[in-house]
Amino acid sequence: MNVLIITPPLVQLNAPYPSGAYLKSFFKSLGHKATWLDLSIELVHEIFSHSGLARLFDLTEEKAMKLAAKAESEGDEETALNLRRYVLQSDLWINWIDDIVKILCDGTDVSTREICHKFMFSPNVPRGARMENYIANLDREPNADDTRNLATMALADLADYITVVFDREFSLVRYAESITVNETSFSEIEKNIDSPVLKEFYGRVLESKIDIKEKTLVCISVPFAGTFTPALFTGRWLKENFGDKVYVTFGGGFVNTELRDIDDTALGRYTDSLSYDRGYGSYKAWFDSGAFENFTDESIYKMTRIVPCSDGSVRIIKAIHESSACEKFENEITESNVPDYSDIDFSKYPRVADDTNPMQRLWSDGAWMKAYLAHGCYWHRCAFCDTTLDYVSSYRMTRTENLYKSLSRQLKEHGIRGIHFVDEAMPPKAMVKFADLALADRQNFSWWGNIRFEKVFTRDMADFMAAGGLIGVSGGIEIATGSGLDSISKGTDINSIVKACCAFKEAGILVHAYMIYGYFGETEQDTINSMETLRQLYEAGLLDSCFWHKFVLTRHSRIYSEWKEGKYPDLKPVEPKNAGIFAKNGLHFEGENRLAKFGDGLNASLQAWMHGEKLSMSVNKWFDFKTPSPTIPKDFIENAIALYEAERNSAWGKIPSLEKCRWLGGKIMRDGRRIIWNYMQEEYRSKLPEGKDDIQKEFLDALECLKCEKFYPDAMKNFLAKNPAYEKPFRKLRGSGLIEV
Ligand code: SF4
Repeated sequence: MNVLIITPPLVQLNAPYPSGAYLKSFFKSLGHKATWLDLSIELVHEIFSHSGLARLFDLTEEKAMKLAAKAESEGDEETALNLRRYVLQSDLWINWIDDIVKILCDGTDVSTREICHKFMFSPNVPRGARMENYIANLDREPNADDTRNLATMALADLADYITVVFDREFSLVRYAESITVNETSFSEIEKNIDSPVLKEFYGRVLESKIDIKEKTLVCISVPFAGTFTPALFTGRWLKENFGDKVYVTFGGGFVNTELRDIDDTALGRYTDSLSYDRGYGSYKAWFDSGAFENFTDESIYKMTRIVPCSDGSVRIIKAIHESSACEKFENEITESNVPDYSDIDFSKYPRVADDTNPMQRLWSDGAWMKAYLAHGCYWHRCAFCDTTLDYVSSYRMTRTENLYKSLSRQLKEHGIRGIHFVDEAMPPKAMVKFADLALADRQNFSWWGNIRFEKVFTRDMADFMAAGGLIGVSGGIEIATGSGLDSISKGTDINSIVKACCAFKEAGILVHAYMIYGYFGETEQDTINSMETLRQLYEAGLLDSCFWHKFVLTRHSRIYSEWKEGKYPDLKPVEPKNAGIFAKNGLHFEGENRLAKFGDGLNASLQAWMHGEKLSMSVNKWFDFKTPSPTIPKDFIENAIALYEAERNSAWGKIPSLEKCRWLGGKIMRDGRRIIWNYMQEEYRSKLPEGKDDIQKEFLDALECLKCEKFYPDAMKNFLAKNPAYEKPFRKLRGSGLIEV
């Protein structure tokens, strides 16, 4: 059967959302003809192109001038000037937009360097407010290397223009999110489907990209709330244009969290079914049940169907969620399935330079092939997390070797070097294996992803993974106090967090932390102590970036299910009135805003700390209201670092297990007894025992055999057994290239 997988707009600009890659591979493995269309990136190119902007200005010039006149009459000269400038410079925008996009896509068929000079310095180029601010705030003379930042600001300026004069829901990411999040009934959401951008631009994308001649299963991914109205628009368009040739189904994160209890048959105007969780089991069950025509009334595993009846009415046949055969099938596929990016042209994805922080830039800059080392989270116990849902609770490792081979081949085919592992938390064992494979294969990949900060991450492991391509990790610290971590069942402690951060930072790996405030039962003292811990972590140089989230109680979280069992009598969730069918996962609870006042100070301090500023200022000074003083010692993190160093040095003082050893120190040059090598930008020297020249050479040959690409530990084992005097110089290589993982 034909299967069409659609990523509707708008998701992240710089990399395709991975669900399409996994589904394509899955359908192909079942023998179907599967095609994946990323219509999110197609919409970006439809708008931000010569013809797109010509059309946009045609549609909006008049309104923009009226809005400018209105702003002027109200004394808002700046807005008036800004709006008029877009219109008056519209020819420049239209002429420049294709080159602006090419600059962000790392150039392709043009010599971008010459364009960069002109774009940066010529007066005959378009300019918006963000671009002007960017140039004005540079603390040095601008140069052509700034052009990517300026081109990013140009897209943001145009997006602002679109939001103000054309479509107030427009945003470069998560378009129309507020409609889905704020509206409580489906009929209200339906009223917003024909929004200007979807109608005038996205409709054209659908027309030009989709033509269905044979019966086709169309799977539309709805990862976030913002993709829901575009998904509805897509589903309706497919049904209107291809009738019963298409069977439409929605799946993805938003469907899994918000649409599990759907009972509104109006959704049938847009989709025939909702597929939950990984999708492998539900689609297989759907095929087995007779695909298009031969459905019975029987419920399908993890697929809720909206079925038209002969009397013109519509009914909902709810999914069943248990089937041992389907679960077994789904788990087998999860282990073996690898993402397939063969339908993707990576040169179309703009790598936006929207942040100076190197860690934060990883999210928006760079062409990443997204994949996961494991489905679900191996811990799956944090109290605030959606641990009752499949994407967290159903932990299953993929076959790392299989995944490595497939990604390695595809990276080469696409000419890109980056992998973003989108695991809930990458399993350390799989990370080490992946690095080992990349090192053995001498591949120069960069990869990064989520981890859990726990003690398993040693300096040796971090060194090894960094050598194998790991460039950044992000993970939850959440409430950075001992009791805070216990209250959310984080399963780690401050010493382990510090240990992991130290190891990563020493190995040159960027570190990002997620923080939470306002958790149920959290006191002002807890928040202040958590903030002080964070300050000390920054002061010690252990974090590169960080983000504070205000705690949201969700229906699928562990704390909510335990509350239902009577475990937290003081937690008082407020069941929403008139919640409609959407946005049901997030719940309010009594007292949830007690700590909301801390938000501004927490965020402002982070901005300063991320730039190395005000690190010694007392945390209390960030608030304009009275706050308790921190009760944790000033040397709290310093002491934890000392513990880490003691442990690291003690490990380096021992002879490592040869099976677990790897030599990362590269070439060793010998000058008589003296050896010299360079590891992680430092030069090291050592002396070998006196003796015959060929024994010294044999030692270095045995060391070569500890490199990943020719790993043969028996060479060193045999050598040391014959030459015990070399145990000392061998041990001395620890910490300077000889690691144990
Ligand atoms: S918060 Fe992260 S570590 Fe905790 S259960 Fe959820 S996915 Fe796992």
